[in-house]
Amino acid sequence: MCRHLAWLGSPRTLGELLLEPAHGLLVQSYAPRRQAHGRINADGWGVGFFAPGRPEPARWRSSRPLWSDASFASVAPVISAACVLAAVRSASAGMPADETAAAPFQQGQWVLSHNGVVDRLILGPHAAAESVCDSAQLAAHLFDFGPERAGEFVADVGKRDPGARLNLLLTDGNRILATRWHDTLSVLRTNDGVVVASEPDDDDPRWFDIPDHHLVDVQAGEIAITHLEE
Ligand code: GLN
Repeated sequence: MCRHLAWLGSPRTLGELLLEPAHGLLVQSYAPRRQAHGRINADGWGVGFFAPGRPEPARWRSSRPLWSDASFASVAPVISAACVLAAVRSASAGMPADETAAAPFQQGQWVLSHNGVVDRLILGPHAAAESVCDSAQLAAHLFDFGPERAGEFVADVGKRDPGARLNLLLTDGNRILATRWHDTLSVLRTNDGVVVASEPDDDDPRWFDIPDHHLVDVQAGEIAITHLEE
């Protein structure tokens, strides 16, 4: 399983969000605290972020471990964004190892990360997917279905593939949607924004855990949590 994180609020640097937290994605790439499947996340990483005046996100992805990316570590402290989504990857068995298989996947304004595994046969092939990786296929199908309907999509795929782990995290720059479906998910509201992440990236007591089979929807400063039909 991978680990992912999204931020929506006042601008923060990519360094503050990914590299500096005591248990942030950088540390989670080699020492996650709550990961149930896989021990490290060294099969690539990626970040999508939104710049003022440009609706489409910018992306930086890599097939290498986040800890080995010295160039990113150098620029991360000077890139700020009000909305950021990032992931570190532990590739599932049989999945490709190149950069195109690393989240976030993108279509238009949306970027998406998937922490988990899904049977590609139940999805059917998708020609527009960025990779044959299960997560990229899942992303392409959700982009068609409607990213705003991520909860409905996960409940449906979960019924058709009971072994699937469907922890999705997606944003269009104004809204974060996240599902917890057989892994962990936590939320932190600070004075200037909201973090949604696979696991807390520090020991701030304001973190709270989302129960399994739930959807988190962060929009206009509000956090809505709803149960997903199993
Ligand atoms: N199945 C996806 C992949 O192979 C995601 C894996 C994960 O969550 N660790 O990249």
